[in-house]
Amino acid sequence: MGGTSCDATRSRESDFAMFRMPSVIVIGAGMSGLCMAVKLRRAGITDFTVLEKASDVGGTWRDNTYPGLRCDVPSAFYQYFFDRNPDWSHFFAAGDEIQDYFRGVVDRFALREHIELDTEVTRAEFAEGRWRVRTADGRTREADFLISASGVLHHPVVPDIPGLDSFDGAWFHTARWDHSVSLADKRVGVVGTGSTGVQIVSELGGSVPKLSLFQRTPQWVLPVPNWRNDRLTRALRSRFPALTSLEYRLIEGIFSILVAAVTRPGWQRTMISKLCELNLRTVRDQDLRRKLTPDYQAMCKRLVMSPSFYRAVRRPGVEVITERIDHVEPRGVVTTDGTLHEVDVLALATGFDSHAYLRPVELVGPTGRTLSDAWSEGPRAYRTVALPEFPNLFLLMGPHSPVGNFSLVPIAEVQADYAISWIRAWQRGEYTTAAPTREATDDYNARLRAAMPNTVWATGCQSWYLGKDGLPEVWPWSPHRHARMLRDRHTDEFVVDPAQEGVWR
Ligand code: NAP
Repeated sequence: MGGTSCDATRSRESDFAMFRMPSVIVIGAGMSGLCMAVKLRRAGITDFTVLEKASDVGGTWRDNTYPGLRCDVPSAFYQYFFDRNPDWSHFFAAGDEIQDYFRGVVDRFALREHIELDTEVTRAEFAEGRWRVRTADGRTREADFLISASGVLHHPVVPDIPGLDSFDGAWFHTARWDHSVSLADKRVGVVGTGSTGVQIVSELGGSVPKLSLFQRTPQWVLPVPNWRNDRLTRALRSRFPALTSLEYRLIEGIFSILVAAVTRPGWQRTMISKLCELNLRTVRDQDLRRKLTPDYQAMCKRLVMSPSFYRAVRRPGVEVITERIDHVEPRGVVTTDGTLHEVDVLALATGFDSHAYLRPVELVGPTGRTLSDAWSEGPRAYRTVALPEFPNLFLLMGPHSPVGNFSLVPIAEVQADYAISWIRAWQRGEYTTAAPTREATDDYNARLRAAMPNTVWATGCQSWYLGKDGLPEVWPWSPHRHARMLRDRHTDEFVVDPAQEGVWR
Protein backbone atom coordinates (compact mmCIF):
# COMPACT_ATOMS: atom_id res chain seq x y z
CA MET A 1 0.00 0.00 0.00
CA GLY A 2 1.40 3.36 -0.99
CA GLY A 3 -0.51 4.97 1.85
CA THR A 4 0.53 7.91 3.94
CA SER A 5 2.52 7.19 7.04
CA CYS A 6 3.15 8.93 10.35
CA ASP A 7 6.89 8.48 9.90
CA ALA A 8 8.96 11.36 11.11
CA THR A 9 11.51 10.64 8.40
CA ARG A 10 9.65 11.78 5.38
CA SER A 11 12.47 13.18 3.33
CA ARG A 12 14.96 11.33 1.31
CA GLU A 13 18.14 12.48 -0.27
CA SER A 14 18.39 11.90 -3.98
CA ASP A 15 21.75 11.33 -5.59
CA PHE A 16 21.97 14.95 -6.66
CA ALA A 17 19.98 17.17 -4.36
CA MET A 18 17.70 17.33 -1.40
CA PHE A 19 14.35 16.16 -2.71
CA ARG A 20 11.53 15.69 -0.24
CA MET A 21 8.89 13.06 -0.84
CA PRO A 22 5.50 14.34 0.27
CA SER A 23 2.57 12.32 1.51
CA VAL A 24 -0.80 13.20 0.03
CA ILE A 25 -4.37 12.25 0.89
CA VAL A 26 -7.04 12.63 -1.76
CA ILE A 27 -10.69 12.57 -0.69
CA GLY A 28 -12.87 10.87 -3.30
CA ALA A 29 -12.23 8.39 -6.10
CA GLY A 30 -14.54 9.89 -8.71
CA MET A 31 -13.49 11.51 -11.96
CA SER A 32 -11.41 14.26 -10.32
CA GLY A 33 -9.89 12.11 -7.55
CA LEU A 34 -8.71 9.53 -10.07
CA CYS A 35 -7.32 12.33 -12.23
CA MET A 36 -5.35 13.61 -9.22
CA ALA A 37 -4.08 10.11 -8.48
CA VAL A 38 -2.78 9.67 -12.03
CA LYS A 39 -1.09 13.08 -11.94
CA LEU A 40 0.56 12.25 -8.59
CA ARG A 41 1.79 8.95 -9.94
CA ARG A 42 3.13 10.58 -13.07
CA ALA A 43 4.93 13.16 -10.91
CA GLY A 44 6.77 10.27 -9.24
CA ILE A 45 4.96 10.73 -5.93
CA THR A 46 4.40 7.34 -4.40
CA ASP A 47 3.10 8.13 -0.93
CA PHE A 48 -0.50 8.98 -1.66
CA THR A 49 -3.83 7.51 -0.70
CA VAL A 50 -7.26 8.08 -2.16
CA LEU A 51 -9.95 7.66 0.48
CA GLU A 52 -13.35 6.76 -0.95
CA LYS A 53 -16.47 6.39 1.19
CA ALA A 54 -18.26 4.06 -1.24
CA SER A 55 -17.42 0.51 -2.29
CA ASP A 56 -16.35 1.41 -5.81
CA VAL A 57 -14.67 4.22 -7.72
CA GLY A 58 -16.48 6.39 -10.26
CA GLY A 59 -18.41 8.97 -8.21
CA THR A 60 -21.36 10.23 -10.26
CA TRP A 61 -21.04 7.31 -12.65
CA ARG A 62 -21.14 4.82 -9.80
CA ASP A 63 -24.08 6.50 -8.04
CA ASN A 64 -26.26 7.18 -11.06
CA THR A 65 -27.59 4.11 -12.84
CA TYR A 66 -31.08 5.30 -13.81
CA PRO A 67 -32.67 4.20 -17.11
CA GLY A 68 -31.49 6.34 -20.01
CA LEU A 69 -28.39 7.69 -18.23
CA ARG A 70 -25.95 9.24 -20.67
CA CYS A 71 -23.39 11.95 -20.42
CA ASP A 72 -24.59 14.94 -22.44
CA VAL A 73 -21.02 15.99 -23.12
CA PRO A 74 -19.58 14.02 -26.06
CA SER A 75 -17.46 11.11 -24.87
CA ALA A 76 -14.53 12.16 -27.03
CA PHE A 77 -14.34 15.24 -24.77
CA TYR A 78 -15.59 13.73 -21.51
CA GLN A 79 -12.42 11.75 -20.92
CA TYR A 80 -8.90 12.48 -19.72
CA PHE A 81 -6.73 13.95 -22.43
CA PHE A 82 -3.93 11.66 -21.20
CA ASP A 83 -6.10 8.55 -21.59
CA ARG A 84 -8.20 8.93 -24.72
CA ASN A 85 -10.41 5.96 -25.48
CA PRO A 86 -10.77 5.14 -29.18
CA ASP A 87 -13.65 2.76 -28.51
CA TRP A 88 -16.57 4.86 -27.30
CA SER A 89 -19.66 3.18 -28.67
CA HIS A 90 -21.63 6.42 -29.15
CA PHE A 91 -21.06 10.13 -29.55
CA PHE A 92 -22.69 10.47 -26.08
CA ALA A 93 -21.76 7.34 -24.14
CA ALA A 94 -24.11 5.66 -21.70
CA GLY A 95 -23.43 5.81 -17.97
CA ASP A 96 -22.22 2.23 -17.58
CA GLU A 97 -19.68 2.66 -20.37
CA ILE A 98 -18.29 5.77 -18.67
CA GLN A 99 -18.13 3.94 -15.35
CA ASP A 100 -16.18 1.13 -17.09
CA TYR A 101 -13.78 3.75 -18.44
CA PHE A 102 -13.06 5.11 -14.94
CA ARG A 103 -12.68 1.59 -13.53
CA GLY A 104 -10.25 0.98 -16.40
CA VAL A 105 -8.23 4.06 -15.42
CA VAL A 106 -7.58 2.42 -12.04
CA ASP A 107 -6.05 -0.60 -13.80
CA ARG A 108 -4.28 1.21 -16.62
CA PHE A 109 -2.50 3.53 -14.18
CA ALA A 110 -1.97 0.95 -11.41
CA LEU A 111 -3.93 2.96 -8.86
CA ARG A 112 -5.62 0.09 -7.02
CA GLU A 113 -3.01 -0.10 -4.26
CA HIS A 114 -3.48 3.61 -3.55
CA ILE A 115 -7.26 3.51 -3.13
CA GLU A 116 -9.02 2.66 0.11
CA LEU A 117 -12.70 1.97 -0.50
CA ASP A 118 -15.44 2.04 2.16
CA THR A 119 -13.40 4.66 3.98
CA GLU A 120 -15.34 7.79 4.78
CA VAL A 121 -13.48 10.90 5.87
CA THR A 122 -15.28 12.65 8.73
CA ARG A 123 -12.81 15.34 9.78
CA ALA A 124 -9.45 16.76 8.79
CA GLU A 125 -7.39 19.05 10.96
CA PHE A 126 -4.16 20.86 10.12
CA ALA A 127 -1.88 20.76 13.13
CA GLU A 128 1.88 20.89 13.58
CA GLY A 129 2.42 21.34 9.87
CA ARG A 130 0.42 18.35 8.65
CA TRP A 131 -3.11 17.25 7.88
CA ARG A 132 -4.59 14.73 10.30
CA VAL A 133 -7.44 13.00 8.56
CA ARG A 134 -9.97 11.07 10.57
CA THR A 135 -12.17 8.41 9.01
CA ALA A 136 -15.46 6.84 10.11
CA ASP A 137 -13.65 3.66 11.19
CA GLY A 138 -11.92 5.72 13.90
CA ARG A 139 -8.48 5.75 12.25
CA THR A 140 -6.35 8.84 11.79
CA ARG A 141 -3.95 9.22 8.89
CA GLU A 142 -1.46 12.04 8.38
CA ALA A 143 -0.24 13.75 5.25
CA ASP A 144 1.59 16.83 4.07
CA PHE A 145 -1.15 17.67 1.56
CA LEU A 146 -4.88 17.21 1.46
CA ILE A 147 -6.75 17.25 -1.83
CA SER A 148 -10.52 17.47 -1.85
CA ALA A 149 -12.01 15.70 -4.85
CA SER A 150 -15.46 15.03 -3.49
CA GLY A 151 -17.42 16.22 -6.53
CA VAL A 152 -20.11 18.84 -7.05
CA LEU A 153 -23.38 16.94 -7.37
CA HIS A 154 -23.21 14.06 -4.94
CA HIS A 155 -25.69 14.82 -2.15
CA PRO A 156 -29.16 13.91 -3.50
CA VAL A 157 -31.94 16.29 -2.51
CA VAL A 158 -35.07 14.44 -1.43
CA PRO A 159 -37.90 17.00 -1.30
CA ASP A 160 -40.02 17.22 1.79
CA ILE A 161 -43.27 16.09 0.14
CA PRO A 162 -45.93 15.39 2.77
CA GLY A 163 -46.99 11.74 2.88
CA LEU A 164 -44.03 10.39 0.90
CA ASP A 165 -43.37 7.73 3.51
CA SER A 166 -46.98 6.56 3.35
CA PHE A 167 -46.65 5.64 -0.36
CA ASP A 168 -47.45 1.95 -0.96
CA GLY A 169 -45.17 1.58 -3.97
CA ALA A 170 -41.40 1.96 -4.27
CA TRP A 171 -39.91 5.45 -4.26
CA PHE A 172 -36.29 6.52 -4.54
CA HIS A 173 -34.05 9.37 -5.61
CA THR A 174 -32.74 8.85 -9.13
CA ALA A 175 -29.13 8.72 -7.85
CA ARG A 176 -30.16 5.71 -5.73
CA TRP A 177 -32.18 3.86 -8.37
CA ASP A 178 -33.59 0.61 -7.00
CA HIS A 179 -33.01 -1.95 -9.75
CA SER A 180 -34.80 -4.66 -7.76
CA VAL A 181 -38.06 -2.90 -8.72
CA SER A 182 -39.28 -4.13 -12.09
CA LEU A 183 -40.85 -1.40 -14.21
CA ALA A 184 -42.30 -3.65 -16.91
CA ASP A 185 -45.96 -3.47 -15.88
CA LYS A 186 -45.76 -0.45 -13.60
CA ARG A 187 -47.21 3.02 -13.64
CA VAL A 188 -44.20 5.23 -13.07
CA GLY A 189 -44.12 8.77 -11.72
CA VAL A 190 -41.08 10.99 -12.31
CA VAL A 191 -40.72 14.21 -10.29
CA GLY A 192 -38.44 16.79 -11.90
CA THR A 193 -37.49 17.94 -15.40
CA GLY A 194 -33.76 18.60 -15.14
CA SER A 195 -31.28 16.66 -17.28
CA THR A 196 -32.00 13.56 -15.20
CA GLY A 197 -35.81 13.64 -15.42
CA VAL A 198 -35.64 14.33 -19.16
CA GLN A 199 -33.31 11.37 -19.78
CA ILE A 200 -35.54 9.03 -17.78
CA VAL A 201 -38.71 10.16 -19.53
CA SER A 202 -37.00 9.88 -22.94
CA GLU A 203 -36.05 6.29 -22.09
CA LEU A 204 -39.21 5.06 -20.35
CA GLY A 205 -41.89 7.00 -22.23
CA GLY A 206 -43.94 4.47 -24.19
CA SER A 207 -42.22 1.43 -22.69
CA VAL A 208 -44.13 1.42 -19.39
CA PRO A 209 -47.95 1.34 -19.28
CA LYS A 210 -48.15 4.81 -17.76
CA LEU A 211 -45.59 7.52 -17.17
CA SER A 212 -46.55 10.65 -15.23
CA LEU A 213 -44.02 13.47 -15.36
CA PHE A 214 -44.52 15.95 -12.51
CA GLN A 215 -43.06 19.13 -13.92
CA ARG A 216 -42.68 22.19 -11.71
CA THR A 217 -40.79 24.28 -14.26
CA PRO A 218 -40.46 23.55 -17.99
CA GLN A 219 -36.99 23.33 -19.52
CA TRP A 220 -35.45 24.52 -22.74
CA VAL A 221 -34.18 21.49 -24.63
CA LEU A 222 -31.46 21.45 -27.29
CA PRO A 223 -31.94 18.47 -29.64
CA VAL A 224 -28.38 17.24 -30.11
CA PRO A 225 -28.41 13.89 -31.93
CA ASN A 226 -26.52 10.88 -30.65
CA TRP A 227 -24.97 8.41 -33.06
CA ARG A 228 -23.18 5.10 -32.87
CA ASN A 229 -19.47 5.12 -33.67
CA ASP A 230 -19.05 2.49 -36.36
CA ARG A 231 -16.26 -0.11 -36.43
CA LEU A 232 -14.26 1.79 -39.03
CA THR A 233 -14.24 4.99 -36.94
CA ARG A 234 -13.13 3.10 -33.88
CA ALA A 235 -10.43 1.22 -35.80
CA LEU A 236 -9.11 4.46 -37.30
CA ARG A 237 -8.97 6.11 -33.88
CA SER A 238 -7.06 3.13 -32.52
CA ARG A 239 -4.64 3.10 -35.41
CA PHE A 240 -4.08 6.87 -35.44
CA PRO A 241 -4.32 8.25 -31.87
CA ALA A 242 -3.76 11.76 -33.25
CA LEU A 243 -7.34 11.54 -34.52
CA THR A 244 -8.66 11.27 -30.95
CA SER A 245 -6.65 14.32 -30.02
CA LEU A 246 -8.03 16.20 -33.02
CA GLU A 247 -11.58 15.13 -32.17
CA TYR A 248 -11.08 16.22 -28.54
CA ARG A 249 -9.91 19.68 -29.60
CA LEU A 250 -12.64 20.00 -32.21
CA ILE A 251 -15.40 19.27 -29.69
CA GLU A 252 -13.72 21.56 -27.17
CA GLY A 253 -13.92 24.29 -29.82
CA ILE A 254 -17.59 23.62 -30.51
CA PHE A 255 -18.32 23.70 -26.78
CA SER A 256 -16.71 27.10 -26.57
CA ILE A 257 -19.77 28.37 -28.50
CA LEU A 258 -21.95 27.07 -25.69
CA VAL A 259 -19.63 28.58 -23.11
CA ALA A 260 -19.75 31.96 -24.86
CA ALA A 261 -23.53 31.69 -24.93
CA VAL A 262 -23.79 31.23 -21.17
CA THR A 263 -21.13 33.71 -20.11
CA ARG A 264 -22.01 36.80 -22.19
CA PRO A 265 -24.78 38.13 -24.43
CA GLY A 266 -24.11 37.72 -28.16
CA TRP A 267 -24.94 35.75 -31.29
CA GLN A 268 -24.11 32.46 -29.60
CA ARG A 269 -26.80 33.01 -26.98
CA THR A 270 -29.30 34.09 -29.63
CA MET A 271 -28.49 31.10 -31.84
CA ILE A 272 -28.89 28.50 -29.10
CA SER A 273 -32.11 30.12 -27.88
CA LYS A 274 -33.49 29.98 -31.42
CA LEU A 275 -32.55 26.31 -31.81
CA CYS A 276 -34.36 25.52 -28.56
CA GLU A 277 -37.43 27.45 -29.72
CA LEU A 278 -37.44 25.60 -33.06
CA ASN A 279 -37.19 22.31 -31.19
CA LEU A 280 -40.19 23.24 -29.04
CA ARG A 281 -42.20 23.98 -32.19
CA THR A 282 -41.97 20.31 -33.13
CA VAL A 283 -44.63 19.79 -30.43
CA ARG A 284 -47.76 20.42 -32.50
CA ASP A 285 -50.31 19.91 -29.73
CA GLN A 286 -50.87 23.49 -28.54
CA ASP A 287 -51.89 22.51 -25.03
CA LEU A 288 -48.81 20.33 -24.55
CA ARG A 289 -46.55 22.95 -26.12
CA ARG A 290 -47.88 25.55 -23.72
CA LYS A 291 -47.10 23.26 -20.80
CA LEU A 292 -43.56 22.75 -22.07
CA THR A 293 -42.82 26.43 -22.77
CA PRO A 294 -40.44 28.04 -20.26
CA ASP A 295 -40.90 31.67 -19.24
CA TYR A 296 -37.17 32.34 -18.80
CA GLN A 297 -34.20 32.58 -21.11
CA ALA A 298 -32.70 29.40 -22.58
CA MET A 299 -29.62 28.22 -20.63
CA CYS A 300 -30.57 30.16 -17.47
CA LYS A 301 -31.07 26.74 -15.93
CA ARG A 302 -28.54 24.18 -17.07
CA LEU A 303 -29.38 23.49 -20.71
CA VAL A 304 -30.94 20.07 -21.22
CA MET A 305 -29.75 18.17 -24.28
CA SER A 306 -32.10 15.58 -25.72
CA PRO A 307 -33.03 14.64 -29.26
CA SER A 308 -36.01 12.60 -28.08
CA PHE A 309 -37.71 14.24 -25.07
CA TYR A 310 -40.47 15.95 -27.06
CA ARG A 311 -41.17 12.71 -28.93
CA ALA A 312 -41.24 10.77 -25.64
CA VAL A 313 -43.83 13.05 -23.99
CA ARG A 314 -46.15 12.48 -26.96
CA ARG A 315 -46.02 8.71 -26.67
CA PRO A 316 -49.12 6.81 -25.50
CA GLY A 317 -49.41 6.61 -21.74
CA VAL A 318 -47.17 9.65 -21.07
CA GLU A 319 -48.67 12.61 -19.25
CA VAL A 320 -47.02 15.92 -18.33
CA ILE A 321 -48.57 17.18 -15.10
CA THR A 322 -48.01 20.84 -14.34
CA GLU A 323 -50.22 21.21 -11.27
CA ARG A 324 -48.02 21.44 -8.17
CA ILE A 325 -47.65 18.36 -6.01
CA ASP A 326 -49.65 18.72 -2.81
CA HIS A 327 -48.92 15.43 -1.11
CA VAL A 328 -48.35 11.75 -1.64
CA GLU A 329 -50.80 9.16 -0.44
CA PRO A 330 -50.54 5.33 -0.52
CA ARG A 331 -51.90 5.09 -4.10
CA GLY A 332 -49.99 7.93 -5.68
CA VAL A 333 -49.42 11.66 -5.97
CA VAL A 334 -52.15 14.23 -5.26
CA THR A 335 -51.74 17.60 -6.98
CA THR A 336 -53.05 20.92 -5.65
CA ASP A 337 -56.19 20.65 -7.83
CA GLY A 338 -57.12 17.57 -5.77
CA THR A 339 -56.43 15.03 -8.55
CA LEU A 340 -54.92 11.71 -7.50
CA HIS A 341 -52.35 10.46 -10.03
CA GLU A 342 -52.04 6.76 -9.31
CA VAL A 343 -48.51 5.39 -9.68
CA ASP A 344 -46.72 2.23 -8.56
CA VAL A 345 -43.17 3.62 -8.59
CA LEU A 346 -42.05 7.17 -7.87
CA ALA A 347 -38.63 8.37 -9.05
CA LEU A 348 -37.43 11.66 -7.59
CA ALA A 349 -35.29 13.40 -10.22
CA THR A 350 -35.06 16.34 -7.85
CA GLY A 351 -31.36 17.12 -8.10
CA PHE A 352 -28.50 17.60 -5.70
CA ASP A 353 -27.18 19.97 -3.06
CA SER A 354 -24.63 21.76 -5.22
CA HIS A 355 -23.33 23.93 -2.36
CA ALA A 356 -22.14 21.18 -0.01
CA TYR A 357 -18.83 20.35 -1.75
CA LEU A 358 -16.68 18.63 0.83
CA ARG A 359 -19.19 19.03 3.66
CA PRO A 360 -20.27 17.36 5.94
CA VAL A 361 -16.53 16.63 6.35
CA GLU A 362 -15.35 19.13 8.93
CA LEU A 363 -12.07 20.85 8.01
CA VAL A 364 -10.20 22.64 10.75
CA GLY A 365 -7.31 24.95 9.91
CA PRO A 366 -4.30 25.78 12.11
CA THR A 367 -6.08 28.78 13.66
CA GLY A 368 -9.07 26.64 14.63
CA ARG A 369 -11.20 28.10 11.83
CA THR A 370 -13.56 25.50 10.38
CA LEU A 371 -14.87 25.12 6.87
CA SER A 372 -18.39 25.77 8.19
CA ASP A 373 -17.18 29.15 9.56
CA ALA A 374 -15.31 29.97 6.37
CA TRP A 375 -18.33 29.20 4.21
CA SER A 376 -21.06 30.59 6.44
CA GLU A 377 -21.96 33.07 3.66
CA GLY A 378 -21.58 30.46 0.92
CA PRO A 379 -18.70 28.54 -0.65
CA ARG A 380 -15.84 30.83 -1.70
CA ALA A 381 -12.35 29.80 -2.73
CA TYR A 382 -9.12 31.27 -4.01
CA ARG A 383 -9.10 30.83 -7.82
CA THR A 384 -11.40 27.75 -7.43
CA VAL A 385 -8.60 25.66 -5.89
CA ALA A 386 -7.51 26.77 -2.41
CA LEU A 387 -8.73 28.37 0.81
CA PRO A 388 -7.21 31.06 3.03
CA GLU A 389 -6.25 29.75 6.48
CA PHE A 390 -6.25 26.14 5.22
CA PRO A 391 -2.64 25.49 4.21
CA ASN A 392 -1.54 22.70 1.90
CA LEU A 393 -5.12 22.07 0.86
CA PHE A 394 -6.24 21.96 -2.75
CA LEU A 395 -9.78 21.67 -4.06
CA LEU A 396 -10.77 19.99 -7.30
CA MET A 397 -14.15 21.18 -8.63
CA GLY A 398 -14.19 23.76 -5.84
CA PRO A 399 -16.46 26.83 -5.69
CA HIS A 400 -16.95 28.73 -8.98
CA SER A 401 -15.32 26.05 -11.10
CA PRO A 402 -16.40 26.10 -14.76
CA VAL A 403 -19.13 23.48 -14.46
CA GLY A 404 -21.81 25.12 -16.61
CA ASN A 405 -22.49 23.01 -19.72
CA PHE A 406 -18.84 22.07 -20.24
CA SER A 407 -16.81 18.90 -19.74
CA LEU A 408 -15.62 18.74 -16.14
CA VAL A 409 -12.73 16.47 -17.09
CA PRO A 410 -10.36 19.08 -18.56
CA ILE A 411 -11.21 21.32 -15.60
CA ALA A 412 -10.14 18.62 -13.15
CA GLU A 413 -6.93 18.15 -15.13
CA VAL A 414 -6.05 21.84 -14.96
CA GLN A 415 -6.79 22.01 -11.22
CA ALA A 416 -4.82 18.81 -10.52
CA ASP A 417 -1.86 20.22 -12.46
CA TYR A 418 -2.02 23.36 -10.31
CA ALA A 419 -1.90 21.26 -7.12
CA ILE A 420 1.02 19.29 -8.56
CA SER A 421 2.95 22.48 -9.26
CA TRP A 422 2.70 23.44 -5.56
CA ILE A 423 3.66 19.94 -4.47
CA ARG A 424 6.66 20.07 -6.80
CA ALA A 425 7.77 23.34 -5.20
CA TRP A 426 7.43 21.71 -1.77
CA GLN A 427 9.64 18.86 -2.98
CA ARG A 428 12.26 21.36 -4.05
CA GLY A 429 12.16 22.78 -0.53
CA GLU A 430 10.70 26.15 -1.58
CA TYR A 431 8.22 26.11 1.31
CA THR A 432 6.67 23.77 3.85
CA THR A 433 3.21 25.21 4.36
CA ALA A 434 1.29 27.66 2.19
CA ALA A 435 -2.22 29.06 1.93
CA PRO A 436 -3.65 31.92 -0.14
CA THR A 437 -4.06 35.29 1.54
CA ARG A 438 -7.50 36.55 2.45
CA GLU A 439 -6.91 39.76 0.44
CA ALA A 440 -6.10 37.88 -2.76
CA THR A 441 -9.10 35.62 -2.23
CA ASP A 442 -11.44 38.56 -1.58
CA ASP A 443 -10.13 40.45 -4.63
CA TYR A 444 -10.63 37.45 -6.84
CA ASN A 445 -14.17 36.86 -5.53
CA ALA A 446 -15.03 40.53 -6.07
CA ARG A 447 -13.95 40.20 -9.71
CA LEU A 448 -16.10 37.09 -10.06
CA ARG A 449 -19.14 38.86 -8.63
CA ALA A 450 -18.66 41.82 -10.95
CA ALA A 451 -18.71 39.52 -13.98
CA MET A 452 -21.90 37.66 -12.98
CA PRO A 453 -24.49 40.07 -14.45
CA ASN A 454 -23.21 39.17 -17.94
CA THR A 455 -23.99 35.52 -17.48
CA VAL A 456 -27.21 33.89 -18.56
CA TRP A 457 -27.57 32.26 -15.13
CA ALA A 458 -28.30 35.69 -13.65
CA THR A 459 -31.19 36.47 -16.03
CA GLY A 460 -33.95 35.46 -13.65
CA CYS A 461 -34.67 31.79 -12.98
CA GLN A 462 -34.12 29.34 -10.16
CA SER A 463 -31.32 26.85 -10.61
CA TRP A 464 -28.70 24.89 -8.74
CA TYR A 465 -26.12 27.35 -10.06
CA LEU A 466 -27.36 30.07 -7.70
CA GLY A 467 -25.94 30.60 -4.23
CA LYS A 468 -27.52 31.91 -1.06
CA ASP A 469 -26.97 35.50 -2.21
CA GLY A 470 -28.84 34.81 -5.46
CA LEU A 471 -25.64 35.09 -7.54
CA PRO A 472 -24.37 32.23 -9.67
CA GLU A 473 -21.70 30.05 -8.04
CA VAL A 474 -20.06 29.14 -11.31
CA TRP A 475 -17.20 30.47 -13.40
CA PRO A 476 -18.37 33.52 -15.36
CA TRP A 477 -15.69 33.39 -18.07
CA SER A 478 -14.29 30.82 -20.48
CA PRO A 479 -12.66 27.58 -19.31
CA HIS A 480 -9.57 28.73 -21.23
CA ARG A 481 -9.35 31.74 -18.96
CA HIS A 482 -9.62 29.42 -15.97
CA ALA A 483 -6.77 27.31 -17.37
CA ARG A 484 -4.68 30.43 -18.00
CA MET A 485 -5.34 31.65 -14.45
CA LEU A 486 -3.98 28.41 -13.01
CA ARG A 487 -0.91 28.22 -15.22
CA ASP A 488 1.00 30.27 -12.66
CA ARG A 489 1.12 29.56 -8.92
CA HIS A 490 0.86 33.29 -8.02
CA THR A 491 3.13 32.73 -5.03
CA ASP A 492 2.90 36.43 -4.10
CA GLU A 493 -0.74 35.80 -3.20
CA PHE A 494 0.17 33.15 -0.61
CA VAL A 495 1.20 33.19 3.03
CA VAL A 496 4.19 30.88 3.16
CA ASP A 497 5.73 29.33 6.27
CA PRO A 498 4.62 32.00 8.76
CA ALA A 499 6.73 32.29 11.88
CA GLN A 500 3.60 32.41 14.04
CA GLU A 501 0.47 30.30 13.75
CA GLY A 502 -1.72 33.41 14.08
CA VAL A 503 -0.39 34.85 10.83
CA TRP A 504 -2.59 32.44 8.90
CA ARG A 505 -5.56 34.50 9.98
P1 NAP B 1 -31.82 19.50 -11.42
O1 NAP B 1 -31.33 20.03 -12.71
O2 NAP B 1 -31.52 20.24 -10.19
O3 NAP B 1 -33.40 19.34 -11.60
C1 NAP B 1 -34.21 19.01 -10.51
C2 NAP B 1 -35.65 19.00 -10.97
O4 NAP B 1 -36.47 18.62 -9.88
C3 NAP B 1 -36.14 20.37 -11.43
O5 NAP B 1 -37.00 20.19 -12.51
C4 NAP B 1 -36.88 20.89 -10.20
O6 NAP B 1 -37.88 21.81 -10.50
C5 NAP B 1 -37.50 19.60 -9.72
N1 NAP B 1 -37.89 19.62 -8.33
C6 NAP B 1 -37.07 19.75 -7.25
N2 NAP B 1 -37.79 19.70 -6.12
C7 NAP B 1 -39.08 19.53 -6.49
C8 NAP B 1 -40.31 19.42 -5.80
N3 NAP B 1 -40.35 19.49 -4.46
N4 NAP B 1 -41.44 19.25 -6.50
C9 NAP B 1 -41.39 19.20 -7.84
N5 NAP B 1 -40.28 19.30 -8.57
C10 NAP B 1 -39.14 19.48 -7.90
O7 NAP B 1 -31.34 17.99 -11.17
P2 NAP B 1 -30.87 16.87 -12.22
O8 NAP B 1 -31.83 16.74 -13.33
O9 NAP B 1 -30.56 15.66 -11.43
O10 NAP B 1 -29.59 17.47 -12.82
C11 NAP B 1 -28.58 18.03 -11.99
C12 NAP B 1 -27.36 18.25 -12.82
O11 NAP B 1 -26.71 17.03 -12.98
C13 NAP B 1 -27.60 18.74 -14.23
O12 NAP B 1 -27.88 20.09 -14.30
C14 NAP B 1 -26.33 18.34 -14.86
O13 NAP B 1 -25.31 19.25 -14.54
C15 NAP B 1 -26.05 17.02 -14.19
N6 NAP B 1 -26.55 15.94 -15.04
C16 NAP B 1 -25.89 15.73 -16.16
C17 NAP B 1 -26.31 14.74 -16.99
C18 NAP B 1 -25.52 14.53 -18.21
O14 NAP B 1 -26.01 13.96 -19.10
N7 NAP B 1 -24.28 14.99 -18.27
C19 NAP B 1 -27.41 13.97 -16.72
C20 NAP B 1 -28.07 14.20 -15.54
C21 NAP B 1 -27.63 15.21 -14.70
P3 NAP B 1 -37.53 23.39 -10.61
O15 NAP B 1 -36.85 23.55 -11.92
O16 NAP B 1 -38.84 24.06 -10.52
O17 NAP B 1 -36.64 23.72 -9.45
